[in-house]
Amino acid sequence: MPDLAEQYPTLHVSSHPLVAHKLAYLRDRSTDPKLFRELVRELTWLIGYEAMADVETSPVTVETPLEAMMGAHVEPKIGLVPVLRAGLGMVDAMLELMPSAEVWHIGLYRDERTLKPVEYYNKLPDAATVQVCLILDPMLATGGSSAATVDILKTWGAARIKQVSLIAAPEGVATLSAAHPDVDIHVAAVDRALNERGYIVPGLGDAGDRQFGTFAGPSSEPGHESGETAEVVRRLQRNLSGGE
Ligand code: URA
Repeated sequence: MPDLAEQYPTLHVSSHPLVAHKLAYLRDRSTDPKLFRELVRELTWLIGYEAMADVETSPVTVETPLEAMMGAHVEPKIGLVPVLRAGLGMVDAMLELMPSAEVWHIGLYRDERTLKPVEYYNKLPDAATVQVCLILDPMLATGGSSAATVDILKTWGAARIKQVSLIAAPEGVATLSAAHPDVDIHVAAVDRALNERGYIVPGLGDAGDRQFGTFAGPSSEPGHESGETAEVVRRLQRNLSGGE
C-alpha cells in the first residue's frame, strides 16, 4: 500500500519477512485459538520492537566483568493501554519487552444511536504517570475507539502516544491520522478496506473471538448492529475518497 505510506507520514508498515510470515498464519481460518494467541504475542513483540525504535535513552555506567562502559536505559516511563477486549492479548508480549511498563485500562463502547464511543471504564489517576503511551489493538478498523482513547490520554497528560496494531484498514488510518496527526501508527499490514459490517477485509475475522474461542457468543464486536455499522463505514469511505 505505497500511496498510504506517502499520504500518512506517521504510518509505519513493517516490511520484515518474519512479520509477513507470521501474519499469513494469523490470517489463516484454520489457525486455532492456541496458535492464534501465540502468533498475536509474537507479532506484538516484533511490531512493538519497531514502535519503540525512536524512544529516548539516557546514558548509564555499566560494570562488565572486565571494565566499566557506557550503556543506555530507556528514558520515558511507558504505559500500555489495551483496547478491550482484543487488545488484551497484546499486553503480555509488551510486558515481556518492557517489564516496568504500566498497564492502564480504558473501556469504550459505541453508542448505537449517536455512533460515538462512550467511556464505561476509566481509572486513570488525575495526572499522567507515564510519558509514552502505546495503544494496543490488533485491528485498527474504523479508528473511532483509538481516536477517542487518544483524546482521553492527551487530556490525562501523556506526552507521546503511539498506536500498535497488527492489521489496519485505510479508513482507520485516515480517521486516526486526521484526528491526531501526531500519533505514530505501527502495523504489520494495511488491508484493502472495511466491509459493510465493519470487518477489515481480507483481515482475519474477529480478533477477539479468534483469541478467546468465543465463536458462538453474541458478539459485541464489529457488525452486530449492521444497519448503523454499514452507514458508518459508508461515511468513512466517503471521507477516505475525499467526498463530503
Ligand atoms: N475488529 C476485529 O476483530 N476484526 C475486524 O476485522 C475489525 C475489527
